[in-house]
Amino acid sequence: MPEKETHVYLDYNATTPLRDEVRAAIIEDLAVYGNASSMHADGRRARARVEEARQAVGDLLSGSAKGVIFTSGGSESNNTVFQAMRRLAAGPDGAPKKDGRTGIITTEIEHPCVLNSARDLAEMGFDVTFLPVDQNGKVRMDAYRSALSEKTLFVSVMMANNEIGTIQDIAALAAPAREAGAFFHTDAVQAVGKVPVNVTELGVDYLTMSAHKIYGPKGVGALWVREGAPLFPLIQGGHQEDGYRAGTYNNGGILGFGTAAVLAREHLAVYGREMCALRNRLRDGLLERVPHIKINGHAGDTLPNTLNVSFPGAEGEAILLSLDLAGIEVSTGSACASGSLEPSHVLLAIGAGPEFAHGSIRFSLGWGVTEEGIDYVLQTLPPIIARLRAMSTVPA
Ligand SMILES: *Cc1c(COP(=O)(O)O)cnc(C)c1O
Repeated sequence: MPEKETHVYLDYNATTPLRDEVRAAIIEDLAVYGNASSMHADGRRARARVEEARQAVGDLLSGSAKGVIFTSGGSESNNTVFQAMRRLAAGPDGAPKKDGRTGIITTEIEHPCVLNSARDLAEMGFDVTFLPVDQNGKVRMDAYRSALSEKTLFVSVMMANNEIGTIQDIAALAAPAREAGAFFHTDAVQAVGKVPVNVTELGVDYLTMSAHKIYGPKGVGALWVREGAPLFPLIQGGHQEDGYRAGTYNNGGILGFGTAAVLAREHLAVYGREMCALRNRLRDGLLERVPHIKINGHAGDTLPNTLNVSFPGAEGEAILLSLDLAGIEVSTGSACASGSLEPSHVLLAIGAGPEFAHGSIRFSLGWGVTEEGIDYVLQTLPPIIARLRAMSTVPA
């Protein structure tokens, strides 16, 4: 038998493994084949499970279960809000009605599914503002106040950033939007299950979440909608989800999401403490062992599990691949996924210079990470950085 290879997964902001209880619930549910929209006993049984999951998801947000609409994930939830707002304000030609509200406010650091939805509406004639952020990733309130007007249709600001972990003060952003008569949406995919999220306290109209970021299955998520807030379906069809999201229920996925939501709520406080301790161990260890590094993001208002570090003089991708060879899985902002070496839009938005943006690594922690795993990273990474810097022409 070969020795078990070291494997330290530190990419929980990209996706999480299923928790054992979630996997068991999904496997058990595979035997329940009823269509949750059918009126007979099998259908009702399946439906009851969907409603239980809806309650669990509503409870995790301290909001009404009634406001929970199941979708295929965070991307669909975000698209649903943007397209519903377009539908609300557009004339028959698809362009916004000139005498109506035409303004959309979002930020430069949103997830691509929000950025591209916003760009799409800009092309249709909406007046889109991408708010700048400060060096810690916080929305610039002065820019926000001057962008907000009686022409603003809606505002969309993510609660926590997936790359650098910065948490926005959503309540303080939502209040003036609603005073101006605009709707407020937050992409809370990275916040839910990591920090307390209470839709009533936040004062939002729409909130996006995704199951696979909280140890649930991929391909399922939810949009929470305040009672009375306007909504139109992205997917037309039957009357599932009160007609707001058609398509036969993804029972197993929804059930797994519900189980994950129950666990997330139960373990929220412990999660915060444990991730914070592990993250700080990694951060302090790196600061001690690797010269000339920079921690990106906000020191206080940040996700407990996220650490984004710039290693100037080394390429993010080269670091990632070297770590991968050693069994350590992380991510980098300079995505070669896009086929280019474009630096992260988030790091550029916080004003990181090109070498800091190119040499950045995101470590995102979760259940299953141990102190031994962190210590293995602390032992493995410094020589990698030293080697890459020695090869580089860019001064550290
Ligand atoms: C992962 C993620 C999404 C997309 O969610 P999916 O369920 O994968 O579509 C949206 N926003 C943020 C901030 C994310 O991290």
